[in-house]
Amino acid sequence: MNKIIYIGGIGHSGSTLLDIILGEAANAMSCGQVGGIIDKTIDDNCACGKPIKDCPIWSDIFKVYLEKNWRSVFSRISKERNLLKFLFSKNYCREYVTINDQIFRHLFEISKKQILIDSSKNISRGIAFVQESNYELYFLHLIRDSRGYINSYNKRQVESNEKVGLIKPFLSWLIKNTSASILGRFFYRKRYFQIKYEDLVTKPVDTIDYISSKTGIEKKSIISRIKNHEEFNIRHIFSGNRISKHPVVLKTRNKKTYKLHHFRDSLFWYSLGFITKLWGYSK
Ligand SMILES: [Zn+2]
Repeated sequence: MNKIIYIGGIGHSGSTLLDIILGEAANAMSCGQVGGIIDKTIDDNCACGKPIKDCPIWSDIFKVYLEKNWRSVFSRISKERNLLKFLFSKNYCREYVTINDQIFRHLFEISKKQILIDSSKNISRGIAFVQESNYELYFLHLIRDSRGYINSYNKRQVESNEKVGLIKPFLSWLIKNTSASILGRFFYRKRYFQIKYEDLVTKPVDTIDYISSKTGIEKKSIISRIKNHEEFNIRHIFSGNRISKHPVVLKTRNKKTYKLHHFRDSLFWYSLGFITKLWGYSK
């Protein structure tokens, strides 16, 4: 049966990186953030370098998306508070998932692969799929230490001249990871599992091995590239963060580096960050 690996969680946690890495499997295709289709126009470029209207993977289905005016349905995931509607309104959830399944069906047919990777991240989208998708769906909850997330978030804020902070990004991190963990662990256990970003970069072979054992994704070609420090190709990711413009080499690290600058690290950890312990992190 065809399968979907849905990468859920919060941004700045390595989801595009993991999507690209898994896309190297012989039986899988990396799609990027499929939910990000609402921000795209037919003239925007796919990662393959062609405009979407000329991309062999996305052009036909994007035209269908425009013709059938699916945008309003897709925009349901732009607010995570709609999660409650996805949980309690069968029709609301089913309509959203039926349209997405049509897109997935097209992607399965055209790619000739058995597994699609969708790294849209939204918790509500993942939960909707777990409940209603006709495909065998795995919710891969990707978690990064809150300090690593805040570092990455603030770096991006500085680059775009926006305000940096601790509390606001931490609360977003907490809400997303808590909702995914509770729903996944207690209600959708068979289809849900967690992966730590820090494990991906410090022990990638073990992490890929684990993902493969859970989902059936072919691991040989991925592990060979990791061991030989070879590039991972981007192919047709059509929405994702900026690393998706260039081939990626997974730089493995010897230790887990996620601390904030010295003073801020202690202040943050003892006031809020200690909650991160719930996901197995320590000071
Ligand atoms: Zn393309």
